[in-house]
Amino acid sequence: MFLNVNEIRKDFPILQREVFGKPLVYLDNAATTQKPVRVIKKIEEVYSTINSNIHRGVHHLSQLATTAHEEARKTVQEYIHAPNSREIIFTRGTTESINLLASSFCRSQCRSGGEIILTAMEHHANIVPWQMQQSQTGIKIRVVPITEKGEIRLEDIEELISSETRLISLTHVSNVLGTINPIKEIIRLAHNYDIPVLIDAAQSVQHLEIDVQDLDCDFLVFSSHKMYGPTGIGVLYGKENLLEKLPPYQGGGEMIAHVSFQKTTFNELPFKFEAGTPDYVGTVALAEAIRYINELGLSDIHHYEKELLRYATTELMKIDGMRIIGQSEKKSPVISFLVKNIHPYDMGMLLDRMGIALRTGHHCAQPLMESLGIEGTLRASFAFYNTKEEIDVLIEGIKKAAKMLE
Ligand code: PMP
Repeated sequence: MFLNVNEIRKDFPILQREVFGKPLVYLDNAATTQKPVRVIKKIEEVYSTINSNIHRGVHHLSQLATTAHEEARKTVQEYIHAPNSREIIFTRGTTESINLLASSFCRSQCRSGGEIILTAMEHHANIVPWQMQQSQTGIKIRVVPITEKGEIRLEDIEELISSETRLISLTHVSNVLGTINPIKEIIRLAHNYDIPVLIDAAQSVQHLEIDVQDLDCDFLVFSSHKMYGPTGIGVLYGKENLLEKLPPYQGGGEMIAHVSFQKTTFNELPFKFEAGTPDYVGTVALAEAIRYINELGLSDIHHYEKELLRYATTELMKIDGMRIIGQSEKKSPVISFLVKNIHPYDMGMLLDRMGIALRTGHHCAQPLMESLGIEGTLRASFAFYNTKEEIDVLIEGIKKAAKMLE
């Protein structure tokens, strides 16, 4: 089966628009993906037909909304092959998922210090929450370096592991380099030392099949908006026995079993970690996005996007003065690049005028930029609705902009 991209593009209303009089070429999918019309319609449908606060209501609408929200949790569970829907916690996004875990994990498991291992290619969302715990708990952060190709090596991780290591937290796919990290091997290595692993799947869950049982990861986090779903919803998956041991993150309604001024007891999983009214419209729309991905098929998506990556890399490399940052053998459809010594921002501005949406800058990975000795890059990131014709427009655009800026 092959993807019918011309038909798929019709599902995304925004792809039909123009920018500065030119057809939009949207190549900023690692920042956020566009939404198919059925996801947009699902939001309207929930507000128009069943909107009502969930879990607490005896009335009909509240029960319908609760059922839809809890079914969405099951859809997410099945998508990542989690054994139990109690292990799916809804958050606002990857960032909140990591903050939740860093806070609950460090408060309970690192009271007397300890070390958290991160890698040099982490997004700020997987750095700063741990740093914020440093002052509270005395934990230390150890950083796995990256190779020249932009990969991490198992032996470098093993060298940092010690009796002090409490957790390894790393990204599955780098949002800058595109590198797909060998997380299964890393998890196996960590488990040899009884160390749990958190996987940041923000850049992988929309491109690759994820099976948390096969990976045996302890925690996994991702955002809906990068997988064709709405903004403001994310997921924290955790193994039930580990989540049971962690204290709640925020306090409020929903997360309690009983409250008195003397003593409060907490609700069971997953509600213990879901204080307040959740975005139950967002969760239902996320489930719709997952159904859409499933109908296209992750395996076909992967093959098509791999071909886009191959084509774009080959064509970009033909451009005079092109430097691609991130040369891993195993890459996701993300390409960071620099052309001669042209500032990425200047090039990005000119491309924007041609209707081409790319991202420029440090991509929320300043420590990575520092280790690469650069300030920033241009980044083109692809989704299954992109085409080779769009890549051709990008290539011509870069050539034209380079001529103007040289
Ligand atoms: N981790 C990675 C690898 C990312 O690419 C991003 C988003 N750029 C995040 C975390 C943060 O995701 P969000 O802003 O949706 O919380």
